[in-house]
Amino acid sequence: MSDKPAVLPNGFCSNKTPVPGTARQVNAHSLGAKFSRMHGRRYADCPCGKSPALTERGKLRPHKQPTA
Ligand SMILES: [Zn+2]
Repeated sequence: MSDKPAVLPNGFCSNKTPVPGTARQVNAHSLGAKFSRMHGRRYADCPCGKSPALTERGKLRPHKQPTA
């Protein structure tokens, strides 16, 4: 991917803006009780290839880019 975001000196991805249209909420009911802790969490894709959780404000949580 050519528009990959930069990596910060601490190893985390510099991008905090989710790719539009990729936000989704975990529906634990379809996954079973084992995943009930994750229920209600929202995720979105980052251009770096990760799918981190979203904050309350709709920003991507700090995450590290996948190593190629
Ligand atoms: Zn990223």
